[in-house]
Amino acid sequence: MTLTEKDSQYLWHPYTQHKTAQAPIAISRGEGALLWDENGKEYIDAIASWWVNPFGHSNKFIADAIYKQLTTLEHVLFGGFTHEPAIKVAEKLIEILPKNQQKIFFSDNGSTAVEVAIKVALQYFFNKNERRTTIIAFENAFHGDTFAAMAASGISFYTQAFQGMFIDVVRIPVPVKGKEEESFDALKNVIENHNCAGFIFEPLVQGAAGMVMYEPEALAKLIQICSENKVLTIADEVMTGFGKTGKTFAMDYVSEQPDMICLSKALTGGTIPMAITTFTQEVFDAFYDDDINKALFHGHTFTANPTGCAAALASIDLLETDEMQANIERINASHLNFQKKIEKHSKVIIARTLGVIFAVEIKSDSEESYYGSMRTKLYNFFIDKGVVLRPVGNIVYILPPYIMTDEQLGKVYQTIEEAIEMV
Ligand SMILES: *Cc1c(COP(=O)(O)O)cnc(C)c1O
Repeated sequence: MTLTEKDSQYLWHPYTQHKTAQAPIAISRGEGALLWDENGKEYIDAIASWWVNPFGHSNKFIADAIYKQLTTLEHVLFGGFTHEPAIKVAEKLIEILPKNQQKIFFSDNGSTAVEVAIKVALQYFFNKNERRTTIIAFENAFHGDTFAAMAASGISFYTQAFQGMFIDVVRIPVPVKGKEEESFDALKNVIENHNCAGFIFEPLVQGAAGMVMYEPEALAKLIQICSENKVLTIADEVMTGFGKTGKTFAMDYVSEQPDMICLSKALTGGTIPMAITTFTQEVFDAFYDDDINKALFHGHTFTANPTGCAAALASIDLLETDEMQANIERINASHLNFQKKIEKHSKVIIARTLGVIFAVEIKSDSEESYYGSMRTKLYNFFIDKGVVLRPVGNIVYILPPYIMTDEQLGKVYQTIEEAIEMV
């Protein structure tokens, strides 16, 4: 039996209707921006394996750091204990994050980073004896699949089976070009009519919605409105963090700073699952009390896993090298060129670029759904050509590992151009 055949006997995959889905491709090896399947077919990983892998597959520098940590202290509980890798990660992040971020809380994945932020926003007001229970989020947001993260997410088929079982979330429009005022007004209106605890957003780029982009000035204004009304702001940088937007964090473009930041995905260079939620001193202080009931009673068994921390430190080291920063600029310049070329095509609605993120919306005769027929046709075309791209409806995006070569990137562009001709 092939791996693919054995898989269908035992495994249940994410976001997959097993009755209609094609069998998964069994990958046996990865190096740099490339993957090889069990039959030896080569693929270019143009989406960095769901946005986690900036420095290439099987990266030796991170692997060495992990091995060294595994053979020194692989894990120790974080309740009542601490260790140098966690402290070093905290010191490093506080140095590179927006200046108001002062406290670091560890968890395991993007959803839990968001879950922690939402629970903190709600308990912050509980601890202050204020009744504030509504969370504000953007339309078409994606914040993860655990319950509070799912409640904040606005992509309906991810959440439709659970409607009526969620915490209170009110949605406002994304301030894309031309819709800024509508978004500001909606936010003011929600704050006036609900007891709002927090506003969670994907800063500048909504990933799962199809790399929908909006301007830093608009986000600054929304944060300002929240600050004036003492509503806590949560920047979900799970996708945008660690260089994807061209700066270390998307919030580096924004003149206002958030109260909390969620990090995961590229945090460990795509090696070990880990996440972090960061806070201002002011948020932390609302939990700092003689009363034990005011503590944050949230934790995960593998909190601050030393091996994950070692991977994170090695990843941040790599990100900060001149070579990696030059890679990010090279890919950005290349995307901008491709955008200029492709946006004139009659089948293209719009193309957009920020940092290493590129997206193009393709014209479609019918209303395209998230996992609709055009999406399937495009996906299969790309896989056939040996390029891993996962379109969202009629939107094709590229989010390459930063080490992707110009030649590999050229092949990705060419394949997208061919796909546009094909559909
Ligand atoms: C992927 C993602 C999450 C969820 O992270 P998981 O590790 O999949 O739980 C949350 N927020 C954003 C913006 C994401 O892109």
